[in-house]
Amino acid sequence: MASIFTKIINGEIPCHKIAEDDKYFAFLDINPVKEGHTLVIPKEEVDYIYDLEDETLAGLNIFAKKVSVAVKKACPCNRIGITVIGLEVPHAHIHLIPIDKLNDMSFEKPKMNPSSEELAMVAERIRSFL
Ligand code: AMP
Repeated sequence: MASIFTKIINGEIPCHKIAEDDKYFAFLDINPVKEGHTLVIPKEEVDYIYDLEDETLAGLNIFAKKVSVAVKKACPCNRIGITVIGLEVPHAHIHLIPIDKLNDMSFEKPKMNPSSEELAMVAERIRSFL
């Protein structure tokens, strides 16, 4: 069965898209740990990130780097934290999180639950810097 992220890529499930090319896709996390929390994924559905072919993995990181520049401009912060977890969704993804302190990266605190309108505004702001 297709992963929830493949369904997002295919437009079967809505998302707040940030960027897309032929191999990669970026969109806002629906329950961010910090405003601007963005997920970057390969279109190829592979669960574990290190099972990706080297070329795809390298391309994913380069695509994430471009997206991170726009996220940082849209959500001023000390830096963009980068993490890979993958315990919830079995489709490789990189979390890009605007952070000022270590706790901003924490997935143990309650996550945010912004409205679709709020997410749309953040996505628009990030896209304006791409
Ligand atoms: P993990 O697999 O542990 O790295 O976490 C998966 C992330 O995907 C979580 O931060 C979720 O909030 C996020 N997520 C799950 N479903 C969606 C969705 N439909 N749209 C956007 N983000 C999602």
